[in-house]
Amino acid sequence: MPERLTPEICVIGAGSGGLSVAAAAASFGVSVVLIEKYKMGGDCLNTGCVPSKALLAAAKRAHAMRNGATFGVTATAVHVDFDRVKDHVRRVIAAIAPTDSTERFSGLGVRVIKGQARFKDRETVVVGSQYEIRARRFVIATGSTPALAPIPGLDEGPYLTNDTVFDLSERPDRLIVIGAGSVGLELAQAFRRLGSEVTVLEEATPLAKDDPECAAIVLDQLEREGVVVRSGVKVTRVKHASGRVAVTLASGAGEETVEGRHVLVATGRKPTTDGLDLEAARIKYDRNGIQVNKRLKTSNRRVYAIGDVAAGQFQFTHAGNYHAGLVIQNVLFRLRTKVNNDLIPWVTYTQPELAHIGITEAQARQRKLQIRFLRCPYHDNDRAQAERETHGHIKVITTVKGRILGATIVGAEAGELIAPWSLAIAQGLNIRSLTGIVLPYPTLSEIAKRAAVDFLTPSLTSPRVRRIIGWLRIFG
Ligand SMILES: Cc1cc2nc3c(=O)[nH]c(=O)nc-3n(C[C@H](O)[C@H](O)[C@H](O)COP(=O)(O)OP(=O)(O)OC[C@H]3O[C@@H](n4cnc5c(N)ncnc54)[C@H](O)[C@@H]3O)c2cc1C
Repeated sequence: MPERLTPEICVIGAGSGGLSVAAAAASFGVSVVLIEKYKMGGDCLNTGCVPSKALLAAAKRAHAMRNGATFGVTATAVHVDFDRVKDHVRRVIAAIAPTDSTERFSGLGVRVIKGQARFKDRETVVVGSQYEIRARRFVIATGSTPALAPIPGLDEGPYLTNDTVFDLSERPDRLIVIGAGSVGLELAQAFRRLGSEVTVLEEATPLAKDDPECAAIVLDQLEREGVVVRSGVKVTRVKHASGRVAVTLASGAGEETVEGRHVLVATGRKPTTDGLDLEAARIKYDRNGIQVNKRLKTSNRRVYAIGDVAAGQFQFTHAGNYHAGLVIQNVLFRLRTKVNNDLIPWVTYTQPELAHIGITEAQARQRKLQIRFLRCPYHDNDRAQAERETHGHIKVITTVKGRILGATIVGAEAGELIAPWSLAIAQGLNIRSLTGIVLPYPTLSEIAKRAAVDFLTPSLTSPRVRRIIGWLRIFG
């Protein structure tokens, strides 16, 4: 006989989204069952954000050591010990893991069940023959897995994805990356800086969802570091032979073959719906994920879907956390809050970083909005000069009256510098509110204020006021 459980909320999947729902619900004293079939922490902790950022951090050190001469600091030789780099990545995961652990969640009062969940009917989830759960509400947070492009020959030999790349026993000497989105390019830069030869192949446009002018700055830096990025090339075949891999590509110029030792596939994500028996619960889904309405409710009114598995939503850890907050507001407080994707920023953690929130220039032009563009280059910022981080700029989009609609930053610490713009968009702030703040000098954050002050410039014709603006610029 299975154990029968009747919690208020049953969460399937203990990744970023599922853990956030479980922790928040438990903190309000609500009974929660959390089911996880593999590792607590999901993709972000084990095979995504955390290991990739830890690897990038090691690569950044190697790069800084090789490039200290500008500062008058040189290292005689830079040696990368790949085993120790991997050890660093493992330790970072281990340091964060307790926050996501079964022990912590059990301590919060969550009943954590290890196993694969599937729907038995519209109101019941089962885990093997051991558990039968009838909850008031279910939250599906089963995430995604690497989507493999259908390339002939790829699966006839070993290939890497984010699920396996962090377990490599040795540094790949020649790495071919298929896919030039954030994941592909972050890993390409990391491995290049750690000493690999790296070629990136992209059928369409690298960093396609980003502002092309800003993406070009990232690509330019990658190429300067020796990453070969080929766009507009279609991979037509992968051949594995004697520990090597030959990738055939087709482009306007014809067919050619690129050779390497390892191939890493970073061609997008596939929502994890397999094994859930969604039909049994009459939950609609397709290859884009589980269909949800603006409140993240599925076609079954008892069931919500959040994070990477929810169709049409951004696939980021912070998106999963945001979704979790919405579900809590809807389920526990009946607030009927709707998802607003304009609030979700995204960052590519290459160096320079590329961060964005709100609408892009292309969207603004497409919607024929009456807008203003404000810009400030990093080289006008004193801290950027001191750090020799002068490559990049901020680009802000406002209405003609100054309401902030979007911001893109490419340059050092862009992922940190996007924070005030997230606040501005969430609060519907006018750009004038940034002109009045006092920021510490010298900091990169002054770039934001400098762009904001630009908003005032054209409307001011009086020479006196122009002089004041000039002084404002000088003093920050
Ligand atoms: C290389 C890489 C780098 C990334 N870097 C970033 C970054 O820097 N910043 C960022 O915001 N995002 C990043 N992401 C994206 C981020 O990792 C995901 O958006 C996030 O982890 C999704 O969270 P989730 O809760 O939806 O799903 P997941 O974290 O995938 O969790 C889903 C969980 O559900 C479990 N599960 C699945 N089916 C069942 C079932 N039937 N029963 C029980 N359990 C089940 C799985 O085992 C898994 O643990 C990165 C992704 C990759 C691949």
